[in-house]
Amino acid sequence: MQAAAMAPDGDAVEAAATASSLIFLGTGCSGALPDVRCLIQPSTPPCATCSQALTLPPEKNPNYRCNTSLLIDYCDNDGTHKYILIDLGKTFREQVLRWFVHHKVPSVDSIILTHEHADAVLGLDDVWLVHPSNHKNEIDHLPVFLTQFTMDSNFQGHARGCHLTLTESLDAIKTICPKKALLIGMNHEFEHQRENNILAERSGREGIPVQLAHDGLRIFIDL
Ligand SMILES: [Zn+2]
Ligand SMILES: [Zn+2]
Repeated sequence: MQAAAMAPDGDAVEAAATASSLIFLGTGCSGALPDVRCLIQPSTPPCATCSQALTLPPEKNPNYRCNTSLLIDYCDNDGTHKYILIDLGKTFREQVLRWFVHHKVPSVDSIILTHEHADAVLGLDDVWLVHPSNHKNEIDHLPVFLTQFTMDSNFQGHARGCHLTLTESLDAIKTICPKKALLIGMNHEFEHQRENNILAERSGREGIPVQLAHDGLRIFIDL
């Protein structure tokens, strides 16, 4: 799964041209990973999740996580693509540089904001980068969908309240009962490989495959 997402083969390139997909632009927490404190004030032993950050390039490092964000690549019957962006946080510019280029996404057609935190909205200042016209003074034609509550909150920066713990997430998954679940929004307490091994064992018992997603992951789906 990871290898396919990191280095698309011929089939993946062909599928990207003719199929709809979801691209995980970011799977991290509000502060993003690596947590800088783990690098400038390292603990003993060093943090397993953040300590690889400077030794592995981000595209080969599932523990390098930008703010949570998803891109829906909707492919119409006639082969035209529409790109719907869900959330653009503090690390948006880096995500565009990394994953829009890698997955050959040229622009964004509309935006959905899930909530008012900095980790979901602060990238709005850079949204003109992905507007089809690419001119800063023409962004007024890009539709943005959000709740009235989010609109009224004046995009406050603090992050609390609407983020779930792992147990809360797994409870929600049991209620929704999907065929498969991919978790996002992880801080450095979740080392990718270790956590996925634990989740594989646990979700095998409960019947719903649950894994951590990682930045850059692309999943092809029917929409
Ligand atoms: Zn850390
Ligand atoms: Zn948030």
